Amino acid sequence: MPSHNHPSMTAIIYDKRGRILSIGKNSYIKTHPYQKKLACKCGFPDRIFMHAEIQAILKCKNIDKAYRIFVSRYSSDGKPKNAKPCPICTEAIKLAGIQHITYTI
Ligand SMILES: [Zn+2]
Repeated sequence: MPSHNHPSMTAIIYDKRGRILSIGKNSYIKTHPYQKKLACKCGFPDRIFMHAEIQAILKCKNIDKAYRIFVSRYSSDGKPKNAKPCPICTEAIKLAGIQHITYTI
């Protein structure tokens, strides 16, 4: 599967002082039980591949310090694209207790 045809999403979790706690990227190959669980909960049981926000949350070792998540998406020619978190990721962010969401528009 040619990955360059897919949008590239990146999610970065910051603490209150702006330090990076973790970085996640979307995948069209990797799945995760947590991704699947939330996808089913939100009514999208086929969205089993890892979303950037969920990978960042799963990778974050001190999620209690997470304050802000920044989600970005760039097209293959480097232009920022809308990266508003989907309903599944919005739920994951809420459950993780992250108060602020920012994204490219
Ligand atoms: Zn998502």
